[in-house]
Amino acid sequence: MIEFVARTAQDMADDLAGLYRDLHRHPELSLQETRTAGVLAQRLRDAGFDTVAEQVGGTGVVGVLRNGDGPVVMVRADFDALPVEEKTGLPYASTARAVDHEGREMPVMHACGHDMHATCLVGAATLLAGTRDRWSGTLLVVFQPAEELALGARAMVDDGLFERFPRPRIVLGQHVAPLPAGFIGYGTGTVMAAADSLDVTLHGRGAHGSRPEASIDPVLMAANVVTRLQGVVAREVPPAESAVVTVGRLQAGTKDNIIPDTAELGINIRTYSPAVRALVRAAIERVVTAEARASGAREDPELTWFSAAPALVSEPEATKTTVAAFTEHFGAQRIMPMPQVNASEDVGVFGEAIGVPTVFWFWGGLEPETVLTALAEDRIDTLPSNHSPYFAPLVEPTLSTGVQALAVAALAWLHCD
Ligand code: ZN
Ligand code: ZN
Repeated sequence: MIEFVARTAQDMADDLAGLYRDLHRHPELSLQETRTAGVLAQRLRDAGFDTVAEQVGGTGVVGVLRNGDGPVVMVRADFDALPVEEKTGLPYASTARAVDHEGREMPVMHACGHDMHATCLVGAATLLAGTRDRWSGTLLVVFQPAEELALGARAMVDDGLFERFPRPRIVLGQHVAPLPAGFIGYGTGTVMAAADSLDVTLHGRGAHGSRPEASIDPVLMAANVVTRLQGVVAREVPPAESAVVTVGRLQAGTKDNIIPDTAELGINIRTYSPAVRALVRAAIERVVTAEARASGAREDPELTWFSAAPALVSEPEATKTTVAAFTEHFGAQRIMPMPQVNASEDVGVFGEAIGVPTVFWFWGGLEPETVLTALAEDRIDTLPSNHSPYFAPLVEPTLSTGVQALAVAALAWLHCD
């Protein structure tokens, strides 16, 4: 165990719990995280960071702590919330509402735990700043906005993150998950899926509902597209690979006796390898276009790919080094290997942009007893998980585990005595 890490994390626990409850009570939607960004930047200034920059790639915050010779190590946390109405019943539950980027009023909740991520990174940054006689190198702290839209990492890179600030040799990050609190879960290689989103507009020809012969019916076209797309994974992706194609949105028409002009689909895909990703994207474009032509549409459909996160790769060698440091610090009984996760994360964009490894792990936020009981009763899927209105990580030991994990991982890559 790294004694000074454990002790300092313990000393900071009350203060960080206060920060966590404050962030939880004041969630902000992606691209609107201004209050949170201000709080985080102030925390880095208070901790003695020599550079603190705000508004990097929107509402991103960057802190640099130069501490002599040694590697540059980047630690990253996201801090946006979700349009979810909180139902946890916690005393610090959110009642916030906000207007989203499409102009709709929404309830807002930290339902993915990004408030926990940000608090732990404040904790680790403060811990490492206060113990800088124990290590040397440069710590690059990155608070990334708009993760839930898979936009924030790209926006920070495009805003010159790696030109304006020291270029790291490694990117480190973590996500709170429905594992027992106090435990760390890790995967090696591809740990999370690539996610791509596509909007489709099918063009038909509207007519009176009694005169189908005068129409080119976009509703039938859309129905056929939805059915036909089920063949992409079933018949085109090799059985040893995996992929998900979901049509989550299907909209057309206003009234039963009017055949509309157009129909719209919102499609989301998840893949793990670049080859399958390219195959699935091409197959969807082919099916959508061909169905429209088969229906006699005069105009090809409009296809707009609007959001993309690459598959998240936790680089195997670097993961091994980091997990060895966790095992040494926390003990082997608190470290567990994990299968691939179907959800996605845009943290991989940072390392990919400059060709350096990313190491990403998960850590638990649920009451261990609850998890064990659910496992024994074979109903682990019924536990509230990320994005649920009931997702409520335990404040402790989740916070101090997350703080220590980030600090231990950073120290594994900085120069240490
Ligand atoms: Zn999320
Ligand atoms: Zn998340």
